[in-house]
Amino acid sequence: MPEGDTVWNTARVLHRALAGARITSSDFRVPQLATTDLTGWTVRESASRGKHLLLRLSAPDEAPWTLHSHLRMDGAWRAYAPGERWNGRPAHLIRVVLRSPGAVAVGYHLHEMALVPTAEEDRLVGHLGPDLLGPDWDAAEAVRRLADHPEQTIGEALLDQRNLAGVGNLYKCEVLFLRGVSPWTPVDAVPDLPGMVALAQRLLAANRGRWTQSSTGSLHRGQTSYVYGRRAQPCRRCGTAIRKEELGERVTYWCPVCQPERPGPPAPG
Ligand SMILES: [Zn+2]
Repeated sequence: MPEGDTVWNTARVLHRALAGARITSSDFRVPQLATTDLTGWTVRESASRGKHLLLRLSAPDEAPWTLHSHLRMDGAWRAYAPGERWNGRPAHLIRVVLRSPGAVAVGYHLHEMALVPTAEEDRLVGHLGPDLLGPDWDAAEAVRRLADHPEQTIGEALLDQRNLAGVGNLYKCEVLFLRGVSPWTPVDAVPDLPGMVALAQRLLAANRGRWTQSSTGSLHRGQTSYVYGRRAQPCRRCGTAIRKEELGERVTYWCPVCQPERPGPPAPG
């Protein structure tokens, strides 16, 4: 599941493969960039902002441009050595190929692809809250933005990238479990919002630099999460069956015992 840490890792792979390199050919396979040709452009750097990827380039006239992409649920970038077989995904999922003398970068099933002047990046990422893995991470601002939506469920608020950028469904579920908070708790009833934000940041940061996402500390298959993807399996703490239900536009996983719902209004009758 591409969340902030996966996107951060991807940005680093692209940076190592392409930074400083001159592009010798480009092949875009999305309609909005079909006629774009980056031959002769130079890659300055690759960066992530929340779950967005920003490949910053210099045009031949040295104007700074940014190639934006988003992985959503299923996108990926791979870097190959020249001549290496592309084994990432089926060829029909390729959306862009960027060749340089030292590496070939292939983007699979990328979303929201756009080429904009770097000065206008904010058009694409300016709405994002503080980036959990950004150099300018601002925990207090993230807490402030969350608290601005007191009635929203914390399960939805953590996924809203305008509050804080980088948490996806996996880390949302895991953070709520670790804090013992039901996903349906309104934001203003969450006991320790700063503590929850700090934990989310620590979990993402701990998984930087590797592709296995773990919240349990274990990297063994089937043991990397407490609740995410574990419907009907026993809670690792109390043995209760983990539940899965829709919350907003996404499903959520939780333990009804470890994450009790706060008492609501009395049932009618
Ligand atoms: Zn439990």
